[in-house]
Amino acid sequence: MEDITPAEIDNLQMPVHPRSEPLPMVRVAGSHREIGRQIGEDRADQVRHSVENARTLLDQTYDSLELTWEGATIQSRKYMPFSQERYPQYVDELIGMAEGAGVSYDELAVVNAMEAVAMDALHLTKCTSLAVNNDRTADGHVLVAHNEDWLPDDEQDVYLVHASPNDEPPWLAMTYGGLLPNIGFNAEGIAQCCDTVYPNDTRIGIPRVMVSRAVLAARSPSEAIRSALVPKRAAGYNHLLVHETGELYSVEVSARRFAILYGEDGTIAHTNHYLDQKMQAIEDESDELISTRLRYFRAMRLLKRSDLHTLKSLQVIQRDHLNFPNSICNHSDTDIEPLDREKTICALIIDLTSRAMHITWGNPCTSQYHTYYLD
Ligand SMILES: [Zn+2]
Repeated sequence: MEDITPAEIDNLQMPVHPRSEPLPMVRVAGSHREIGRQIGEDRADQVRHSVENARTLLDQTYDSLELTWEGATIQSRKYMPFSQERYPQYVDELIGMAEGAGVSYDELAVVNAMEAVAMDALHLTKCTSLAVNNDRTADGHVLVAHNEDWLPDDEQDVYLVHASPNDEPPWLAMTYGGLLPNIGFNAEGIAQCCDTVYPNDTRIGIPRVMVSRAVLAARSPSEAIRSALVPKRAAGYNHLLVHETGELYSVEVSARRFAILYGEDGTIAHTNHYLDQKMQAIEDESDELISTRLRYFRAMRLLKRSDLHTLKSLQVIQRDHLNFPNSICNHSDTDIEPLDREKTICALIIDLTSRAMHITWGNPCTSQYHTYYLD
């Protein structure tokens, strides 16, 4: 993918053996309990499989994490009172999902608090997000792209949720297994991508997944940022937040600090290390975070290469293989160490102007994009 010209972008051939299946999408509506139950019933196999995956991962990594499933359950229960106090509606979604999928609430609590109870010990680097606004696209649309890098075994658990909650704007989001959805956009024209970051000030509090689920309900950019900074949060993501008017923000969050970066030249990108200086001061094991820096520089360079972007030019960035296998299109799925195994399990581009999501199931270099709309 080195030195691709705009003409070559137009001539990009699909890979020889593209993965062609579209992702399943479940339509849900009603109260949060009902929404959760509808997701659980429709996606029962995927929810159960993700619980099994989490159990297997803890089994395989016991020598290094020394965490049993029972231990993880006890740990994750400590986070739930904070969730219940601030976001009872999303605890209800989890209860509904557990009922619908025939798993226990405790099991879903572990899956949703996994990053807090175990994943910080994982060496996953995870995810590339970027966006271009209406000043920087050929058709004047606002485009937001995200590669989701995660455990290879969860690739089969990816699906989309098209939700019309009673008390929130409708939204369309990607998720996998028993996780609450958090990467997507809503009818108020707000899009969110989440990138894992590594603060050293984590504490018992509201899990990151629940904090970012709440952002999908935001009706304005300030409401989205306020949700990302909810008090008593356990840790933090980078929330790449985009408004349909073309405002681009990276909200870097830890348990106690935050920074807001702005897409000055109509583009923005974020990977898995803090960019703001005061956030860098609390980054855990910064010198381990090498490939995330390379992905960030590479994404910024490829964004600068075109004055006007298109869906295709963003797809080229999503398929980039610099520093393979730890590239933007991630292929580290054969690493011997289970804790180091990861790959791009889906790649999506949100067209915030036409309220559409183009998404692959699996690595974008070998999979077709399919398009879904928010009604
Ligand atoms: Zn690839």
